[in-house]
Amino acid sequence: LARSFITPTKPDFLLRGARVYRHDGDTDRPVTTNVLVQEGRISAIGDGIPDKPNLQTVSLDGHLLTPGFVNGHFHSHDVLAKGCFETMSLERWGLIAGPIGSNRSIEEVRLRTTLGAVECVRNGITTVQDFAVIAPLEATYVDAIVEAYESVGVRVILSISLRDKSQLDTILWADELIPVEHQGFIGTKSNDGATQLSFVANQMKRIGDNGGRLIWAVSPSSPQRCSFEFLKQIGAFCHSTNLPVYTHVYESRLQRLFAKVKLSDFNGSEIDYMEAAGLLGPRITVAHGVWPDADEILKLANTGTGVVLNMLSNLKLRGGVAPLAAYRRAGVPLSLGCDNCSCSDVQSMTQVMKLYCLLSGIADPGPERPTAAEAIRLATLGGARAAGREQQFGGIEVGMDADLVAFDLSDPSWQPFNSAARQLVFSETGRSIRHVWVGGRHVVSNGKCTLIDENAIQQSLASMMPDVQRDIANLVAKADEVEGVFRAIQARAFNTPLGYDRYLSK
Ligand SMILES: [Zn+2]
Repeated sequence: LARSFITPTKPDFLLRGARVYRHDGDTDRPVTTNVLVQEGRISAIGDGIPDKPNLQTVSLDGHLLTPGFVNGHFHSHDVLAKGCFETMSLERWGLIAGPIGSNRSIEEVRLRTTLGAVECVRNGITTVQDFAVIAPLEATYVDAIVEAYESVGVRVILSISLRDKSQLDTILWADELIPVEHQGFIGTKSNDGATQLSFVANQMKRIGDNGGRLIWAVSPSSPQRCSFEFLKQIGAFCHSTNLPVYTHVYESRLQRLFAKVKLSDFNGSEIDYMEAAGLLGPRITVAHGVWPDADEILKLANTGTGVVLNMLSNLKLRGGVAPLAAYRRAGVPLSLGCDNCSCSDVQSMTQVMKLYCLLSGIADPGPERPTAAEAIRLATLGGARAAGREQQFGGIEVGMDADLVAFDLSDPSWQPFNSAARQLVFSETGRSIRHVWVGGRHVVSNGKCTLIDENAIQQSLASMMPDVQRDIANLVAKADEVEGVFRAIQARAFNTPLGYDRYLSK
């Protein structure tokens, strides 16, 4: 079935009187000027734009206008589990977080994706990379996800999580330590890789790019979750289609040890494993990258492979702190993500930018430090670059898409007004966001979504959540049964030398 979307009309309009944040301009006190938007793009910036009859004008006196944020890493499948968990290890969390989103109704998938999109766009995120975990892998679910983003008006970089190894096969020592009666719960099922890849190719062909609001990407769940044959197939597919690639690498110490033990044919390195499959380069982005060693960091830099940092989830899942200073020194292209709702548990780039600046102080005691303006660049252009779209969005420049956020500078977080960049990163909480445009569409006005009824979402949640909460409680109970084994696995991981660490106390 071919799909067709109605292309929304894009009236021309003039944004008047805001301080306009430009990456290469004055990032402390951006100049007050006007921005003309035509056909969804920024067509002029300056004071001398003539008023034309019938041109809609929006007065933004007392506002800061910034580029929309690009949330470089997110999963929509566990949006309904926001706030369910305290901090825990990645491996224990994974027992619950994957199954939470699998085998759910179409209505639930639509609702959770819509809610995630609303949270993103209300927080000034105009593009989100949804690394979608879809189980079962059926076209109706893909439709529900695409339609959810469309209904809110946020742009999505959509990828479908691919793997052909069972979960049990990808947790080091699991086969040895986890009793057979519990192995089914951990996950012993594996799926054929080629079938999944052709599913992705078919969805791309069937759905298209949705008028530019849908960007397709490819996502091996993680190299270690894919056989070498499958990973090579993915590599070949990405080369022939030129699509961006996102994959999880080295989120925990246990995963780094997994590579050492299980990928001995590839120097015990997940990065070398990716290289052998043709999956390093400027189109490839590694999510997390907390545990690469010095040689692997250099290889990422030398091949132009990017890293999307997710400090919120790394800290909540006790994964350690990524080598931020080493990445900056080596010149690894960086972007920023918020990650899942059940492990961060927020879609807020201001929180992520703040952590990026603050954590650099404990990732490395050296004098170099990222500035607030750098964090803003990564949270916008950095995410666009990862998708190969840095010419299209991520900045306020003539010719770029009108992905824009207007902050009300009368909010206490902006008073007194000393620095746009530093107050956006260190002071703002999302509270002062008044307007958001995506490709020239006014999707948030006076702090509320314009295309969708947010009250209706709340009503649907009220009727759906009792079942969801019961199912989450059941999963937690099952995870509790193997808690002792998982603690033993973690203890073994922490007692196995690695030669370097990403924790302060080690
Ligand atoms: Zn992820």
